[in-house]
Amino acid sequence: MDLAARLAQERRARLAAERLLELKQQELHAANRKLNRHARDLSNQVIEHRAEAATFRTAHDQAKSDLTKARARGDTAERRLWESIRNIEDGFALFDPDGRLILANDAYLALFDGVGAVSPGIAYEHLIEILSREGIVNTDGADPAAWRQMMLTRWRAGAHDPIVLRLWNDTYVKLVDHRTRDGDMVSLCLQITEAVRTQQEIRDARDRAEMANRAKSAFLANMSHEIRTPMNGILGMAELLAETEITDEQRLYISTIRNSAEALLVIINDVLDYSKIEADKLQLFPETFDLERCIHEVVMLLQPAAREKNLTLLVDYDLFLPTRFTGDPGRVRQILTNLLGNAVKFTDHGHVVVRVTGHVPDGSTEYRIHIAIEDTGIGIPESKLDHIFGEFNQVDDQRSRRYEGTGLGLAITRRLVQMMRGNIWVDSVEGEGSCFGLHIDLPAAEDASLPTLSLDQISEVLVVDDLEANRLILEKQLEQIGLAVRMATSGPEAMGMISDQVDLVITDHNMPEMDGPELAEALRAAGHQIPMVLLSSNPGFATKDPARPLFTKVMQKPQTRNDLFTALNTVSDQLSFRNRPVAQAPAPGKLRILAADDNRTNRLVLAKMLADQPVELHFAEDGEQAVRLFSTLRPDMVLMDISMPRVDGKTATTRIRGLEDQMGTKVPIIALTAHTDAQDVAEFKALGMDGHLSKPLRKPVLLETISKYRPQPLNPCEIRPKGSRVRRPSDPLPTSRAESDSRPGQNP
Ligand code: ADP
Repeated sequence: MDLAARLAQERRARLAAERLLELKQQELHAANRKLNRHARDLSNQVIEHRAEAATFRTAHDQAKSDLTKARARGDTAERRLWESIRNIEDGFALFDPDGRLILANDAYLALFDGVGAVSPGIAYEHLIEILSREGIVNTDGADPAAWRQMMLTRWRAGAHDPIVLRLWNDTYVKLVDHRTRDGDMVSLCLQITEAVRTQQEIRDARDRAEMANRAKSAFLANMSHEIRTPMNGILGMAELLAETEITDEQRLYISTIRNSAEALLVIINDVLDYSKIEADKLQLFPETFDLERCIHEVVMLLQPAAREKNLTLLVDYDLFLPTRFTGDPGRVRQILTNLLGNAVKFTDHGHVVVRVTGHVPDGSTEYRIHIAIEDTGIGIPESKLDHIFGEFNQVDDQRSRRYEGTGLGLAITRRLVQMMRGNIWVDSVEGEGSCFGLHIDLPAAEDASLPTLSLDQISEVLVVDDLEANRLILEKQLEQIGLAVRMATSGPEAMGMISDQVDLVITDHNMPEMDGPELAEALRAAGHQIPMVLLSSNPGFATKDPARPLFTKVMQKPQTRNDLFTALNTVSDQLSFRNRPVAQAPAPGKLRILAADDNRTNRLVLAKMLADQPVELHFAEDGEQAVRLFSTLRPDMVLMDISMPRVDGKTATTRIRGLEDQMGTKVPIIALTAHTDAQDVAEFKALGMDGHLSKPLRKPVLLETISKYRPQPLNPCEIRPKGSRVRRPSDPLPTSRAESDSRPGQNP
């Protein structure tokens, strides 16, 4: 190879090397740049981290100082709390859930009177033991072991109720414990000696005051009693004086003396009652009584005063409530007299209604009887309602001057109601009226049952009364016994409502426009033969009315349930009497006897005993049938068993007597009973029975009784026991017959 070629070759090689070098330098450069960038990034990062670390450091320092401060504050709070707890006068202790003492203040520890062993960790049980063993607590004679047991049982049960402990030195503490949510028990031991002492002093003072009050009341009771004796002298002498010959002027003076003395007596009675109650001397004397009758008696007593003011008195006695209860009738009457008396006194127009309902509360054997007395009087202002049951509280002077009274009536009434384990309250709207309500608990006594109703002839009744309250009471009662009721507010309205559907008219007596008797006359004049019953607050007066015979019955208003039932039965019997054909008269010479007995054997015995006698015997198997047969057979005599199903002999007798009132006859009725005492006999007589026969029947006595009571004039027949003397028609009438108040019977 020539030089030139070699030189060229070398040059090429050098150029290539130079290029490579340049390339490598470029790469190096690039690498350097990258390295530089990286180093910069890295240093940036380092700077950031350094800054963060600095922030952390300050935060940490801050937290550290905060913690120190908080700890210091916590310490202060704890110290303060503890200082406070230590310094309170009452004891404070904290126990863990196992009943071990965690901490206690000095007052709590003082209870243990320096017994060294009492320190944190001690068990509650142990504390209780120290209290009793060291005699710290005065267990009032109770066995210390029993006392400890009681305290531990209480603690374990959660110690919900505070307990008072009397200590050896006659001081008192009250333990109040509370379990926290964590199960710890906080126990407070409160010093209550002062409070207990004050309470005792108050109690002593009250006892002394009550004793003084009772002494005062006893004195008052004695005094009012003492005053009554001379008062009786004054009244009695005034009465005697009035009967001597005196001038009209003197008569006026005497009547003033009497009225004043009587008014004074009423006041004295109030004071006497009140002081008796105050002195705890008033007692209840329970006996069996008839509540409905008691209410009606009070109503009757107030009827004259009510009539004078034109007030209507009404009674709404629940149809399904018994009437006989065991209670103190005198005091029940006094309650009713006070409330009804007030209602009449403070009412000038309208009416007064007594409503009586009752029920046996669950779990009780006694009736809770509710009595409401509503009036349409002057009412009581709302602001006074709370006071009127207090002593000497009359609503205001002006009124009390108009209406006299002691202001003791309601106070006495409330005490009496409370003695009967009841309550009394009042609702009133001034100017509209008042309603006094009360309830008392009374055991029901054996009930004198209401007469059984026999309503087969009555289904619809027309009630005529201008007073809505009474229409509503009658409507309710009649509907309750299953009758349809129409109501008219006046006579003319009733005339327009009458139709064949109506079986009975019950009308009020006094009504504007047309009164009850006028309505009766108008109905008869218009050709209506419907039976009518008159309701009158003055039946004595009504009886004198020429229209009286048009009424089947005159009922005293307010009517008792018994009155109402009896009137309905009478009307029903009268209707069936009218509608039934009458049987032929008995064969001449025979006595027609109707015998009611539900027992077949008894009927057979009777039939056998009378078989050989001139008697036409008919049987009824119960009271209902007896009444029905009575109206068709028109017997000469009735033998009436008393206890029969459905309608008993007493009710049947009443109904027969009711029928006879219409017919103007009276047939002898002889009671048949298993046993009779004097009370029964009196009751039979009151019911209108003439005599009685005891079962088992003996033929001679039966024949003797029949011949004793058989109607006169004698039929030409003889009823005679075998071997007895034959009575001739000319014989004198049996004397007992002449003595009995029954009129001679008539055969239809
Ligand atoms: P008083 O002997 O005055 O009637 P009460 O204790 O019976 O005493 O009644 C207290 C007062 O309550 C009465 O004076 C009267 O103002 C008021 N009061 C009681 N009942 C009624 C009533 N039915 N209507 C209006 N006020 C009544």
